[in-house]
Amino acid sequence: MAIQTARPSAIVAYLDQYVIGQEEAKRVLAVAVYLHYRKLALARGGAASMDKSNVLIIGPSGCGKTLLCETLARLLQVPFVTADATSLAQTRFVGEEIEAIMERLVEKAGGQTDLAGQGIVFIDEVDKLKASSDGQPRLVSGESVQHALLKIMEGAPVRLEDGRVVDTSGILFLCGGAFVGLEQIMARTHSFGYIGTAQGEDASLLDRINSRVKPTDLFEFGLIPEFTGRLPVLARLRELSKEMLVRIMVEPRQALYRQFREILAQEGVELKIAPAVFQQIADIAYEYKTGARSLRGIFEEVLNPVLFAVPDRPEVRQVVIRSLFEPPEFRAA
Ligand code: ADP
Repeated sequence: MAIQTARPSAIVAYLDQYVIGQEEAKRVLAVAVYLHYRKLALARGGAASMDKSNVLIIGPSGCGKTLLCETLARLLQVPFVTADATSLAQTRFVGEEIEAIMERLVEKAGGQTDLAGQGIVFIDEVDKLKASSDGQPRLVSGESVQHALLKIMEGAPVRLEDGRVVDTSGILFLCGGAFVGLEQIMARTHSFGYIGTAQGEDASLLDRINSRVKPTDLFEFGLIPEFTGRLPVLARLRELSKEMLVRIMVEPRQALYRQFREILAQEGVELKIAPAVFQQIADIAYEYKTGARSLRGIFEEVLNPVLFAVPDRPEVRQVVIRSLFEPPEFRAA
């Protein structure tokens, strides 16, 4: 089964087809996933159970956290669900919400609880689960949500409404958050000084360890020690540069440019967009500070006149967009 045979390098190669950049996080996640399914295989073979390598994924919004997790799950062909930590804190009964997450996972597993028990759960916005109240109206404190999540991360079984039980001990938990302000905390607390440049393959191991996020940095964020203790692996995603935003529109298998070229190809029309246009869109999206999230909206706006006109003009064979300052050019055969 694919789950057991995926090598970390093969996992990264697969992720590269869908996710631009974030090399460091890809490697960390690939190894974590590899270890996780190796451990599961060993446990099935009767070996003593080992601690899980759940991962804390830190990175700004819209930079690929969810995309990485769902792409991983697709490669491994394991059931995958996402949940939002802040919405867990807005319900009266956290236990019921967690049960609902497991219900969804079982659903994704085609009703098989044992398959669900090997799935991946991504919980976003865990940085919002502050232990102390931050003045936000909440029904449940962030700390009690952390405790509730802790239980399933530790492998406590979850009983579903219909009486079936999901064994969570084999589920890989990936927790995400933007952790805005973390760099400042690190700059203050790291004895070696925070070496922001110590990343990537060029950095020495010691440099990398020195620039690591420490558990105490996360405590300052309001995460309780038990919770961070269950997230031993840390993957950091970087803000997307303008160049990366351009690549995101063009390169991935699901890239916007490819999608719209395909849609227009169905009308027998070839779409051509000049590189300058992607630059201009990236400039605008970069200002929005929502990572790659705003690309689709801007892209669709740019294409709106094209998509409006083309179905009425069967003679058109090619559409060329040279710049956002010029109207698109419609060419007949
Ligand atoms: P978040 O980090 O907030 O979880 P997402 O992974 O949901 O962000 O990204 C939002 C959208 O932006 C995705 O649907 C994806 O299309 C795009 N995106 C973000 N980062 C990348 C990336 N590094 N490579 C390719 N697409 C990306």
